[in-house]
Amino acid sequence: MSNPSLDFDPSTVSLPQGHFIGGAYCSTDEAQISVYRPSDGQLLGYVPDASAVTVDHAVSNALQAWKSSGWATQPPRQRAKVLTRWAELIDRNALELAQLEAVSSTRPVAEAYASDVPFTAEAIRFFAELADKLGGDFAATRRDSVGFVASEPYGVIGAITPWNFPLSMCSWKCGPALAAGNAVVLKPSELTPFSTLRLAELAIEAGMPSGIFNVVNGHGTTTGAALIRHRDISKISFTGSTRTGAAIMSDAALHGTKPVTLELGGKSPQLVFETVPDLAHTAGCIARGFTSNGGQACVAGTRLIVHERIAEPLLDAVRMQLAGIKPGPLWHGTTSYSPIISRGQAERIESLISESRASGAEVIFGGGYFDDTDDGYFHRPTILANVTESTPAVREELFGPVLTVQTFREEDEGIALAGHPTYGLCAGVHTSDIGQALRAMRRIAAGTVWINRYGRSSDMIIPTGGFKQSGIGKDLGRQALEASLRFKSVLIDFDRM
Ligand code: NAD
Repeated sequence: MSNPSLDFDPSTVSLPQGHFIGGAYCSTDEAQISVYRPSDGQLLGYVPDASAVTVDHAVSNALQAWKSSGWATQPPRQRAKVLTRWAELIDRNALELAQLEAVSSTRPVAEAYASDVPFTAEAIRFFAELADKLGGDFAATRRDSVGFVASEPYGVIGAITPWNFPLSMCSWKCGPALAAGNAVVLKPSELTPFSTLRLAELAIEAGMPSGIFNVVNGHGTTTGAALIRHRDISKISFTGSTRTGAAIMSDAALHGTKPVTLELGGKSPQLVFETVPDLAHTAGCIARGFTSNGGQACVAGTRLIVHERIAEPLLDAVRMQLAGIKPGPLWHGTTSYSPIISRGQAERIESLISESRASGAEVIFGGGYFDDTDDGYFHRPTILANVTESTPAVREELFGPVLTVQTFREEDEGIALAGHPTYGLCAGVHTSDIGQALRAMRRIAAGTVWINRYGRSSDMIIPTGGFKQSGIGKDLGRQALEASLRFKSVLIDFDRM
């Protein structure tokens, strides 16, 4: 995706300021959160840290707009028109959005421009198109009665997003919630707030009523928790770590027994059988699977489980694919490798690698940080061998470009190793034997299984979401729209009319 014409000067990017509430930016005298550029660690700007009072102001605005603007009660096609215009405006402002993403998040400008922005617009367009396609169920009941199931929006949905892929994550949360007729108050990660604020501004330009989509900035344990606990938030849609997901689920249970959709962490396997059809293609899937976005993707394929007879040639091919990786500022159109988001995250990666080495793991490729960068944390793609199921790097989500390697002899052994005791987000299976592929697909407990590929396609109809502690419910697909609605059972005895 290299595109030198996308080079830009990061100091020229103008940053949205404040929260976005009731259709406008609003400033407060709250404490400011400093936001840094991951490429070089320089200070980028500030956003206010919303107090519970500001959260209450945003939720009250959303509820008022939801009740009075007609957003929830109009025909779904009307909402679809606004959402479609929003998607068009996102496409039209692609360069600006890609630059905002490249200065504060880990996304290289060329990738943000060619993929994140169009995918964000596409996700919103998908839910716009789906808005009037859900039918209800008629029930088999007495001849003089009619029974049916009616769907309704919840009201105000509280959404919280992580720092990786901020634009896409915003569209995955807002697309279904808004298409279903809800209002949304969204808290983006405090590390990457700016592109989400700009999306909210574009929604107003597209004709969305003021107050239907609001953005509050702030830390998780204060602003995020105040949003989850607010009495007028009727449903929660969260993407982030498994640990935070558990805290949110517990908060939601204690403050109103609210439904939650949780998209959480992963430790996904790439299972490679001896009969793999194309070793070079598979090596590409392995290399990209654990290095894309610097390994900071929930779906990262970070555990290679490979048949012992092809382990060496496959690893040689993977090493070849990794050899050319170079770090660079995310505002250079030729950069394709991402830095680690923050110092804290960089330290966590190093400590998990050290603990893994102390338990016997051996670094067979990479290790440490590139040393020719301007203070950004660009971790070298790293491969660890001599690991077992109890090695920290196998057990825990590391969120960096680190691959562990385990080998097997028999199909059953490989499939068993591919399963994980904690996570079940995705799995890659590489084989030319369809029976083997389907046996593995059935037996690996994961919300998504990719066969002879690794990574999502642009087909928004295919949902994403994890099993086990990787989550509850789905983003994207029809399932995400259904999860933004509540269902009411109706029974009419028409003989009495
Ligand atoms: P995180 O859990 O630390 O934070 C996510 C969001 O939650 C942030 O906005 C944060 O401010 C907020 N938050 C933190 N504590 C909170 C609390 N107690 N109450 C309410 N909100 C709180 O995650 P992160 O480090 O930003 O993102 C990386 C994680 O996200 C990884 O685990 C990754 O796997 C996961 N992720 C999952 C998916 C998916 O679709 N399954 C997609 C992207 C990222």
